Amino acid sequence: MTSDWDAERPDGEWDGSFEATARIVDAGGDADERQVEAALRPKRLDDFPGQVRVRDQLGLLLQAAKRRGTPPDHVLLSGPPGLGKTTLAMIVASELEQPIRITSGPAIQHAGDLASILSSLAEGEVLFLDEIHRMSRSAEEMLYLAMEDFRVDIIVGKGPGATAIPLELPPFTVVGATTRAGLLPAPLRDRFGFTGHLDYYAATDLVTILHRSARLLGLEADESGITEIASRSRGTPRIANRLLRRVRDWAQVHGDDRVTHAAAMSALELFDVDARGLDRLDRAVLDALCRRFGGGPVGLSTLAVAVGEEPDTVETVAEPYLVREGFMVRTPRGRAASALAWDHLGLAAPLDAQGLWSATLPLDDASGGRFET
Ligand code: ADP
Repeated sequence: MTSDWDAERPDGEWDGSFEATARIVDAGGDADERQVEAALRPKRLDDFPGQVRVRDQLGLLLQAAKRRGTPPDHVLLSGPPGLGKTTLAMIVASELEQPIRITSGPAIQHAGDLASILSSLAEGEVLFLDEIHRMSRSAEEMLYLAMEDFRVDIIVGKGPGATAIPLELPPFTVVGATTRAGLLPAPLRDRFGFTGHLDYYAATDLVTILHRSARLLGLEADESGITEIASRSRGTPRIANRLLRRVRDWAQVHGDDRVTHAAAMSALELFDVDARGLDRLDRAVLDALCRRFGGGPVGLSTLAVAVGEEPDTVETVAEPYLVREGFMVRTPRGRAASALAWDHLGLAAPLDAQGLWSATLPLDDASGGRFET
């Protein structure tokens, strides 16, 4: 990953590459982690802190459906990874007291894959489709019909002789989850009677979540320890729970088994998660931006070379959080450091550099700041 750029990297500099999947502050979870997480998932809406609006709206939808004795409208949950979409899907099923079938867009590559799932659903069952935006087009079309008319057309035979045999399905509820709602074709989006968008959590909600997780893990935890972890968790419960487990490890090895402020500080320093939740890659990007390029603006690929990473990694792994938190600005001439970035690194922002980035308009669209130098 680094070989192409070794020649361009001045000697004596850090040459590690960052494994996106191994980052402790990565909001995605792998299969192993999801198993650990299962024990920490709230099972009922009342146990689900945060996302008040979505929770209340969903609560109403489910209660009304239960009273009517019919399955509720299909539910679409959108938002960044690690915020509770899977958890809410499971809560929908448990509130309805129905079984749940779990699959994901990438697992459904052919309409036939979906047909076999749909045709085996029981009445009222919840079908959770994670990463629904990654389903194949042919499966998507089958899903429209199934969601609207509770019917699938099974194609028998091939070529001109093929015939479609309609198969009636019992009513069921689809809960779709996506990190990219904008990628869903409108006809599919329209089939969902309810759409809930999950947003990053306030630190106070993360504190509640962490206290609950600590209790479930059988840990004693101080308020100050929990607050410290919450403030470094990037508004994301998955990251909060992961950091809690590392602080627990630290406390069990070096401390007195308790999640204290000192344990949180030591463990998170060991794992390179700073006071604002930035890790080594985030800080390397800001450091290069400020020290090497005077605050920018600088093109993405130039910046990536400076930190020994792929432009794609910088753009998709580090940048979203840095931009969201106001450390970095995307401008038509490239990436620039904000005053907050200089401040966070303990550096004084040069006046001309500040003027440079503030004179350019930040771009929020996907192509923003891709003008390379
Ligand atoms: P997503 O599907 O959006 O990626 P998950 O539902 O898998 O996120 O949640 C990731 C982890 O965060 C799980 O361990 C889950 O228990 C926890 N979590 C998410 N939201 C909450 C919440 N509101 N309260 C408690 N734990 C939560």
